[in-house]
Amino acid sequence: MRSMQIAPMPIPGHIDPVPVPREVTPRADGRIDLIGLARPQIAALLLTAGLDAKAAKLRAKQVFHWLYHRGVTDFEAMTDIAKTMRPWLAERFVIGRPEVVEAQVSTDGTRKWLLRTADAHDFEMVFIPDATRGTLCVSSQVGCTLNCRFCHTGTMRLVRNLTPGEIVGQVMLARDVLGEWPKGSMAGLDFDEPEEDEPAADYTPDGRLLTNIVMMGMGEPLYNFEHVRDALKLVMDGDGLALSKRRITLSTSGVVPMMARAGEEIGVNLAVSLHGVTKEVRDEIVPINRKFGIEDLLQACADYPGASNARRITFEYVMLKDKNDRDSDAHELVRLLRQYDLPAKVNLIPFNPWPGAPYDCSTPERIRRFAKIVFDAGISAPVRTPRGRDIDAACGQLKTAAERKSRAEIDRLAEDKQAALG
Ligand code: SAH
Ligand code: SF4
Repeated sequence: MRSMQIAPMPIPGHIDPVPVPREVTPRADGRIDLIGLARPQIAALLLTAGLDAKAAKLRAKQVFHWLYHRGVTDFEAMTDIAKTMRPWLAERFVIGRPEVVEAQVSTDGTRKWLLRTADAHDFEMVFIPDATRGTLCVSSQVGCTLNCRFCHTGTMRLVRNLTPGEIVGQVMLARDVLGEWPKGSMAGLDFDEPEEDEPAADYTPDGRLLTNIVMMGMGEPLYNFEHVRDALKLVMDGDGLALSKRRITLSTSGVVPMMARAGEEIGVNLAVSLHGVTKEVRDEIVPINRKFGIEDLLQACADYPGASNARRITFEYVMLKDKNDRDSDAHELVRLLRQYDLPAKVNLIPFNPWPGAPYDCSTPERIRRFAKIVFDAGISAPVRTPRGRDIDAACGQLKTAAERKSRAEIDRLAEDKQAALG
């Protein structure tokens, strides 16, 4: 049974989420892009294309392995599929990747890609390497359903939800670029008799650049729940991209009604964009708070399946000068986390400015003082170093180039108006 699509609830003011659901991006040549599809969906397509049920199931399993575990982009590379069948597949299907419009590298090694969907919508992906890990920051929507006031993506209109293929496609593209598909032999992998409980293929993230994924690019992942879930299932599948759910984090601005399902059906680490501890402030900076308040949000966190001291919930807190950065805010934050008995870690994010942003970043002394109060209460409170600022890749700076241009035009218009007024 297909689960219910969430109907976003109206939020007063200019912040109503208006997602445009779309399962797959239609292709002009009529072929179907297999990326984003699970085994049963691939099998169903093969069945429709003329294979019998047993063959469809077997071929789907083989194709799945080549697509998601080995990362091949050409049916000819699928060596355990009969030579004559490969062109048959290529006539009907494609193995897609998001189109790369632009790739940039920051002086600190952070990389950003401007990507384009088959129907010409631009979105962004960021890769952040550091000493011990490499984190891919993946987008879930083109634009965002919501309008957090400090976030550049929030100033874009929502164009549409990304499909499962466009979401998992980002991770696959990153593996292409980093050259990180497993290259070992196929020996030992027996495809003759598909078994339900075949062990996960021999694959570990050790020594790889891309070790972690965060759903923290453009968009609110829980307003595109099913596509994000389906994509992450492919990422976590032992015969797919085979990344552990412990290395994946989903960040939400607080879509409370979807949090339990996220825990049950996806089961990855949870990050929550808290950013404010009073209704007044959070209503202003994270407007979804007007719909789902702080108490409901923290209760949903307390109920999140799988949260424990070993798997803490991350609370993101952007440091905005004279807005949410007083000592009393820090004390209230500690009080709230204790009240709900949350296994918590607080990430303090210095505000990353963008042209026309209505806030400033707190001073370094203020951030240090805030961090100390939280830390002294026994809660880990690292201050995040902004990465990739020179290429606008830092948190909350993602906004596509095309949109940025129009923003620059808007800024120029505003300046002209000022000048005209004398
Ligand atoms: N939509 C999701 C995930 C994407 S944003 C969410 O809001 O959680 C990833 C993180 O960056 C969020 O915590 C977001 O609030 C934060 N962020 C957004 N704009 C920012 C900015 N300009 N400076 C610092 N952090 C920002
Ligand atoms: Fe959307 Fe997250 Fe930005 Fe808010 S912070 S506008 S939810 S991307």
